[in-house]
Amino acid sequence: MTTRRPDDARTVTTSGSNDYATFRRALRRASPQLARPLPWIAHPDPWAVLVSEFMLQQTQTSRVVEPWHRFLAAFPTPNACADAPLSAVLRLWSGLGYHRRAKALHEAARRVRDAHDGEVPREVRDLRSLPGVGEYTANAVASFAFARPVAVLDTNVGRVLARALVNRTLRPAEARALAQELVPRRDSASFNQAMLDLGARYCKSSPLCADCPVAMACRWRLEGGVDPAPRSAGVSRPQSTFEGSDRQVRGRVLAALRESALTSAQLRSCLDGVETGRYGSILAGLVDDGLVERRGRVVRLVGD
Ligand code: SF4
Repeated sequence: MTTRRPDDARTVTTSGSNDYATFRRALRRASPQLARPLPWIAHPDPWAVLVSEFMLQQTQTSRVVEPWHRFLAAFPTPNACADAPLSAVLRLWSGLGYHRRAKALHEAARRVRDAHDGEVPREVRDLRSLPGVGEYTANAVASFAFARPVAVLDTNVGRVLARALVNRTLRPAEARALAQELVPRRDSASFNQAMLDLGARYCKSSPLCADCPVAMACRWRLEGGVDPAPRSAGVSRPQSTFEGSDRQVRGRVLAALRESALTSAQLRSCLDGVETGRYGSILAGLVDDGLVERRGRVVRLVGD
């Protein structure tokens, strides 16, 4: 089936794998222009890829580069991380926030050491069994570290699918199915990386269609209509505001304890502007999460 816009001489198919082949070719041609110079891209070490994927969960790419180098310099292998106390991992997590990920990565390293002879597993099923590894992270590691032909679907890629491939809003299950249908069997890692790059650099919430290198293969660009991928394209939930949040206060508590163990009174004095009841519940939450422990009057990072 074809449609022709009155104001546009270009004709496009509206369904079927032909669209996908056209889009794949356009994306392949554009990939050198799309590529971002990120140190974990095409990195040969699966552990380095796994660490990058943990850090990239809920954190901007630009904020991950420096901690990623620092972390791998300290823990170049899963076993090096697994053998270290959690407090050492938390110190290296400085600047990244969402510290439960640091604990999960530490536990994942221990699982890799104990159940996989210190080698990051290759299969999605085994990757999914690691603490802190969900569908996205497992697929990303399987694709980027082991060239498995599985889709890597995040919010950015969800926007590309909705706009460029189908020009309609997708439910999460539809986006997953379409992403998997689209990924080629050969060179899937390069394809997945190019999709992520396209979503991050051009197909943003406010898309840069005039400069987009795959615009000639994009259905929304060609057919028009309302944006089919408003907000997060249904793939993820937007993050809450950081300023003044409990997340911010948790970060301040952990930053103080990275310097040294403190008495509860000393720790409290580091938290100007946080009322006592809120401080107590945030500290209790950090203890429940296994990041902080109290021994008598002293509060410290777990493992110190
Ligand atoms: S032309 Fe616009 S909507 Fe289409 S893929 Fe490029 S940035 Fe996204």
